Amino acid sequence: MTIWHQVGREIDELTATIRSIPVAASVVPETLRKDLTERFDFVRPIPLAVLTADLAHVLRHYAVQVTHPRYFGLFNPSVTDASVVADALVAAYNPQLATWTHAPGPNELERLTLERLACVLGFEPRTTWANFTTGGFEANLSAVTVALAQRFPTLESCGLIGLEARPKVYVTSETHHSFVKICRLVGLGTSSLQEVPTTRRFTMDVEALRTRVRADRDAGLKPFMIVGTIGTTGTGAIDAIPDLVDVAREFKMWVHVDAAWGGAAALVPQLRSAVCGVADADSVTWDAHKWLSVPMGAGMFFCRYPDAVRRAFSVSTSYMPAAMGSDTPDPYATTLQWSRRAIGLKLFMTLAERGLDGLAEQIDRQAKMGDALRRALSDAGWLIVNDTPLPLVCATHDDLRSGRYSVADLVRAVNERGRAWISDVLAGGERVVRACITSFRTDERDIEILVAELEHARKHASTGDQRLSGAL
Ligand SMILES: *Cc1c(COP(=O)(O)O)cnc(C)c1O
Repeated sequence: MTIWHQVGREIDELTATIRSIPVAASVVPETLRKDLTERFDFVRPIPLAVLTADLAHVLRHYAVQVTHPRYFGLFNPSVTDASVVADALVAAYNPQLATWTHAPGPNELERLTLERLACVLGFEPRTTWANFTTGGFEANLSAVTVALAQRFPTLESCGLIGLEARPKVYVTSETHHSFVKICRLVGLGTSSLQEVPTTRRFTMDVEALRTRVRADRDAGLKPFMIVGTIGTTGTGAIDAIPDLVDVAREFKMWVHVDAAWGGAAALVPQLRSAVCGVADADSVTWDAHKWLSVPMGAGMFFCRYPDAVRRAFSVSTSYMPAAMGSDTPDPYATTLQWSRRAIGLKLFMTLAERGLDGLAEQIDRQAKMGDALRRALSDAGWLIVNDTPLPLVCATHDDLRSGRYSVADLVRAVNERGRAWISDVLAGGERVVRACITSFRTDERDIEILVAELEHARKHASTGDQRLSGAL
């Protein structure tokens, strides 16, 4: 058996057995480190076949199994076979996408894929900029960088220190915290990040935004960017993008839509209203490694202003191969990265294999599983506290609200039993249980098991039973 047969068998085996293995096993750091240190001393060479089995063991036993159908966690998907094949081939051929001329085929496949998805968002593909990123963080960082460059032309040479007033970015408490890091990184500092109050549905309060922007402008500050989210990480809330666009036009600001997870709704006719207004955004973040079910790390950055993107990232050297022409831009001189992996081929393969409709069906099925979970929890007496068409359910129970036991204890009890994995989150100041459908494998039976696990944990906790984490 060659090593590739062995790897193929390992992947087949994983897919065949995923349902029967614990979603998460508890790991004691000292035991794990001791085990790893003993296995791998980097002195004795290990035959590749043995090492491959060792690595598979580590991946299987010492990590949360995010491709498990009952992993209801943080948007980490089950992955399509097509995307794993693409990632393996990309690793083997190792094409360098920094310049167009080094990898014309892979660069054009990425472009083809991005143009199609720009259409899905409602952008005009020929005049829209789009590139793959490592994930949502890099796409959001690209957006802030380009928006700054567009609004403050002196920034390129003088930096922020050359500005006479502080630029401001408007977010909410529910906006992804990548923007905290981004503001530090680009030199804006977190004082430039303005939290706008939210409505009872955890979305940006548009009147509060307008008032705040006006006040900041009158105080001599420089409001330049509004970040709206389609599918917040915590509660799946969807900001009123058309209203944010109105405010942005009024004050000549940039609207960035962070649709890292929720962007996939654009593919599904029944969920289309969730992405209302996205086509009017100045830039958009959309992750492939979330609801499009490809392996990490794969995000996408879309922007209405190709010239601004080129200005923000342009650079020239004597050692990089010469550019082909203006119609074939070199990624190293138009994006954040330099050396560039063929990130987009796993999405290309998935789309080409399934077709847009096939992928839409898969996404819609997950949305329906979210509806089923909401119904099942309500029927069991739980209270749903978030409001979204996306499959992310935040729930609490009278037993939790009465303080008989904490949400953290309940979540830990569920996760320790290994049959399902959920998380908790603050929703409007209240800690609640959070469960998100992240796997295309999740079916009705998995929903039943999750609800049964939650009920089991709740009943044992409320009767003071300490044996919450018994064996499977
Ligand atoms: C996950 C997420 C991000 C961060 O994306 P990464 O791919 O993890 O870098 C940003 N925004 C939202 C809304 C997200 O859900």
